[in-house]
Amino acid sequence: MATTPFTAFSCRCGKVRGRISPASARSGTRLLCHCRDCRAAARYLGRGDIAQDGVDLVQTSPDTIDIETGTGHLAILRLGPKGPLRWYAGCCKTPMFNTLARPGLAFVAVLLDTTDKPGAFGPVVAHSFVPQPGGPPRHKNGGRMVVRVLSRMIAARLSGRWKRTPFFDLQTGDPIAPIHLIDREARAALYD
Ligand SMILES: [Zn+2]
Ligand SMILES: [Zn+2]
Repeated sequence: MATTPFTAFSCRCGKVRGRISPASARSGTRLLCHCRDCRAAARYLGRGDIAQDGVDLVQTSPDTIDIETGTGHLAILRLGPKGPLRWYAGCCKTPMFNTLARPGLAFVAVLLDTTDKPGAFGPVVAHSFVPQPGGPPRHKNGGRMVVRVLSRMIAARLSGRWKRTPFFDLQTGDPIAPIHLIDREARAALYD
């Protein structure tokens, strides 16, 4: 029987590398996010405006991620005190993961630009915050996305799998990389 291989990921310069287990290919949700915060984060990291293309993500459980090398290069961008943690490789400013702020909320979105096989996670099944001319942004298939995020988080919680995370020190509950919370002025410059 053929086994599904792990999918490798890497920052652009190759210092931060690891792999995603095949469980993510089965249970992950691939989507394109066009939200203002993802756009602001891309600007902050020198990627220009990504409004049209969106960010190609797979939402999955943190226990499917192994960071094999370069953990010390990771840094976290936070656009506001309550926002998600946006993990990037400080060596080359590659955006890599988004997580929630606490390990018990077992959620990660992997930016698929970091892999050479985004197709391993299936087709894009949802779009969030798609810009609409003259109106507020809309979701396509957003309900399914939310249900799957919650059911993965509950399953990870009940099974204890939430404790297998490469992103947090479980003793303290703190993320393993420094957080850069940008101030209000710098933040304003990143939004339209
Ligand atoms: Zn790098
Ligand atoms: Zn977004």
